[in-house]
Amino acid sequence: MIVVLKPSITEEQKKNIIHEIETYQLKAVISKGVERTIIGAIGAEEQVLKARPHMEAFEGVESVVPILKPFKLASRDFKKEQTIIDVKGFGIGGKKLAIIAGPCSVEDREGLLRVAKSIKKSGACFLRGGAFKPRTSPYAFQGLGEEGLHILAQARKETGLLVVSEVMDPRQIDLFEEKVDVLQIGARNMQNYSLLKEVGHSRKPVLLKRGMMSTVKELLMSAEYILSEGNSNVILCERGIRTFEDSTRNTLDINAIPVLKKWSHLPVIVDPSHAAGKRDIIPAISMASIAAGADGLMIEVHPTPQKALSDGAQSLFPEQFDVLMQELEGLAKTVGRTI
Ligand code: PEP
Ligand code: MN
Repeated sequence: MIVVLKPSITEEQKKNIIHEIETYQLKAVISKGVERTIIGAIGAEEQVLKARPHMEAFEGVESVVPILKPFKLASRDFKKEQTIIDVKGFGIGGKKLAIIAGPCSVEDREGLLRVAKSIKKSGACFLRGGAFKPRTSPYAFQGLGEEGLHILAQARKETGLLVVSEVMDPRQIDLFEEKVDVLQIGARNMQNYSLLKEVGHSRKPVLLKRGMMSTVKELLMSAEYILSEGNSNVILCERGIRTFEDSTRNTLDINAIPVLKKWSHLPVIVDPSHAAGKRDIIPAISMASIAAGADGLMIEVHPTPQKALSDGAQSLFPEQFDVLMQELEGLAKTVGRTI
């Protein structure tokens, strides 16, 4: 439930309310909005039902509203305003579109630096690259591991780009702390609840990708795992889902963009590369995603896609990415964004 506070509330009255919420084994999460400060009382449904009738009687409480959705902290009921996630000064979810680009995997220092410089010149602000790769086959390239993170950090230093990379295991999180700016949770790990809880303890922004067979609600429930552990910096990512359609690797669920925007205050990024599986339709679905309200894109770009160790067929050539960025610039203006 949401406890809406009066603007005139004193610190003492606020403390009393939080104390009361906690006596019901509920978590009190404070959210300061533009107009009102609210406290989310989050926890087991039966405890919320017990606490609710008592809350209205407290001094400083304006009203008490139930959150009907199964996800609470992720919902628009809990927070009306759009969340803007600060990544070292870049606000994901703000007016400027967050464009993340780079290879599927970090393969070598020289290639990564080359592509990083190129995407930076085209206008991207974030560099992506997997150091730990979740591959379907155990015999496929698994990523460079820690060495890949070093290379990413070097590229960050040389270009000023912010770095996004996938963390697959809670034991890896410490390695990511210094070298990566946004922790990516891959589609296959969207329901790895122990991993979600662990990144919930970090304060780093988390890019949470939708599982390939997960509903929008399930994605938001996974976001809730991270938020409820105290990390409020969650970015949602639509990356295509499995359907009967086999003309593309996955099917981009364009509906998910406005639905997520309606149900949640969290920023939404679209990854057209894994949705498409082949590079030729990526420009079209990138444009469609921005037109549908996405806050940014994550696009695979490789210096020599034909030689890529993973996802070459869906990786854009740097020149194609450059053209797409120019096309996106015009569209961004039309939808009131910048690039
Ligand atoms: C990736 O971003 O390279 C990746 C593995 O994506 P997904 O988890 O969406 O399959
Ligand atoms: Mn990939």
